[in-house]
Amino acid sequence: MEINGEDLISKVREASENAYDWSQRNGKPLAMTASEKDLEVAQFFDEINIDQNIAKLIIRVGNFSPSLNFSFGEILRKGKTIRKAKSVVDKSEEFLRENYLIDDLLRRDIEIDYLKNLYHCFELISLLIKKSRRVQRRRSAYFLEYCALCWRLVNKNKILNFSESADYSAYYCLEHHPKKSDSNYHKARASLIAALKIIPALNREFNSRKESDALNPKFFYKATARFALKHKPSKTTKQTISTHNCKGPVDYTINIANSYYPATSTAINGIDLNKINSWKEWFYAVITALDPTGQDSLSWDDANDNWDDVPEDHTAYSPDFGVDVLLNILHRHEATFNIKALPRPRGPKPGEVKKNKQLRLRVIEIYEQQKAIKGKINGAEIARELKVSRQRISIILKELNLR
Ligand SMILES: [Zn+2]
Repeated sequence: MEINGEDLISKVREASENAYDWSQRNGKPLAMTASEKDLEVAQFFDEINIDQNIAKLIIRVGNFSPSLNFSFGEILRKGKTIRKAKSVVDKSEEFLRENYLIDDLLRRDIEIDYLKNLYHCFELISLLIKKSRRVQRRRSAYFLEYCALCWRLVNKNKILNFSESADYSAYYCLEHHPKKSDSNYHKARASLIAALKIIPALNREFNSRKESDALNPKFFYKATARFALKHKPSKTTKQTISTHNCKGPVDYTINIANSYYPATSTAINGIDLNKINSWKEWFYAVITALDPTGQDSLSWDDANDNWDDVPEDHTAYSPDFGVDVLLNILHRHEATFNIKALPRPRGPKPGEVKKNKQLRLRVIEIYEQQKAIKGKINGAEIARELKVSRQRISIILKELNLR
């Protein structure tokens, strides 16, 4: 076999693309070792053979147990970590350089060159793993069904279709969609961040987050829920709900709203109960009362088209749209209301660090948007959008190493 490092690299690249596609299709990131959550990366490189002399050298230098077929996948496996694999390649190169018994110097240089390419291949694998994990992290938000800032559904249908339309957001409802309704999103987010102060543990968590991660919607999702008491249903209460008609579960949710969620209860007490003949009618009446624009009710249509598959007297117990689901919506609605109702401090206090942090977060955000859309950044535009001086933006960009 002709020893050819560049050929090795192109094979590793090709297999990397395959591995990446496979990981995306299966919704699992790649990792050095397989687990319930991760796919083993090495398995995608078992067909790529390593030059036999180099393989022997690596086995010796790395103290690896010998194999019959030494493939790139096999070194990954034996190396256990990328760092270890790279260090074995480094040591192999050292070994070649220091071994004066080798008389074929030309051959030695070719082998050293091959090792350098092999080293590069490990870097490619390390990038591949990172890339698969980055996307996976975003994807895991698919399971966040509710908007990070309120009670509405995320635009689930579009997500299920993997469509990247302008309406698409894995974390937010249409109302709070960062690109579609910029100001609603920022208002709600600012209210939440201001409200965090009254829950010290949350506030600490927020302040200790790294800047790049502080705007993580998962944190907002969790934080939002903390602003209303959560009703915990006891088993006995649930058993007393009559299943013969929808009146039992409807009354049950009304009672809980009355006792736990006053603002929400006000919002839904205008529903004419005489017109409610099924759990589905009640469910939609509540959704529409909470979001009169009808947008959330459309999202629910998209998300659940299987009402008809569930027998009428079971609908109130469906994990997709039953009592528990509705109670969770009432809870998140109440929390959203409470967050909005909290007085929001107006204007910055002198020397307030927090305010500066928020500004920096906004800068990062706009910077990312500009980079994604235009491929370059425009400091003046950021300054205009945030209504601060260009100098200040320029300093922040420098501080953040974004320039
Ligand atoms: Zn929302």
